[in-house]
Amino acid sequence: DLEIVSSSLLSVLQDLHSKYKSLQEGAVANYIPELAKVNPDLFSICIVTVDGQVYEVGDYQQLFTIQSMSKVFAYGLALEDHGRDYVLTRVGVEPTGEAFNSIVLDERSKRPYNPMVNAGAIATTSLIKGEGATERLNRILEMFRRYTGHDVFVDMSIFTSERSTGHRNRAMAHLMLNFGMIDQNIEEALDLYFKQCAVIVNCHDLAVMAATLANKGINPITGERAVDHQYIKDILSVMYTCGMYNFAGEWAYTVGIPAKSGVCGGIFAVVPNQMGIGVFSPPLDARGNSVRGVEVCQALSQQLCLHLFECG
Ligand code: GLN
Repeated sequence: DLEIVSSSLLSVLQDLHSKYKSLQEGAVANYIPELAKVNPDLFSICIVTVDGQVYEVGDYQQLFTIQSMSKVFAYGLALEDHGRDYVLTRVGVEPTGEAFNSIVLDERSKRPYNPMVNAGAIATTSLIKGEGATERLNRILEMFRRYTGHDVFVDMSIFTSERSTGHRNRAMAHLMLNFGMIDQNIEEALDLYFKQCAVIVNCHDLAVMAATLANKGINPITGERAVDHQYIKDILSVMYTCGMYNFAGEWAYTVGIPAKSGVCGGIFAVVPNQMGIGVFSPPLDARGNSVRGVEVCQALSQQLCLHLFECG
């Protein structure tokens, strides 16, 4: 029961923060050179409930780039732009069982597998409507404004660092162009994808964005609708099955709520009709998920009885 939980929620977060602060495993992402500069000791946990209560501990105002967590919101915008049926013809909803950056495509159905892995996310971002690159970027930034409740900006040094080293993503885009899965202008799509990944947020923002998805698409702090209610189930379903990459199955089993990670070390998780959770700790495990983030979410799920099929 959330009301009973609320009184002690802050102390739950404080205990988890001090317990996992000493966990020193994992390594910060370094394949984007600018990302490697982050302080590995940064650590924050934040919960925002659908009625707007905020509980947060640690470095929750520390800024970082949203990275793959942006994929969830871009998918929502693509659904709003084109509708579910069309988007499904361009990007599947099947987990790959492979790493986030694996070069696998569903050649049979001529689609990338899902919007949570890089290939599918690049294809998804290429669907976002707008007259030219600037308008498309502005529509993405405006979307993030609705989810966070404030204006957001692109970290240009992270963006240029990824653009100049992102050969693997560029290769995927070319492969998708070859198969006719993505339209001609792939450099523009990649630029937009890299910028979307370089949007600056903090752990508090992650929890507010997650709480917005938990709250049927309405930001619980500002009261503004961020995404059409009818797409919440699509967004959360694909997060649940694909959001943690090749850890998605084990995550569904042990944590049991939809979530998305990013190589910045962030994870956000959604407890429908209850709360959004954000965790930030840069060191990653071999699958690219935050080591402390995974531990914190597993512990939180147990302690607050969040698993959808245990407590739902
Ligand atoms: N921008 C990163 C990339 O495309 C995002 C990956 C991630 O966060 N898992 O490689």
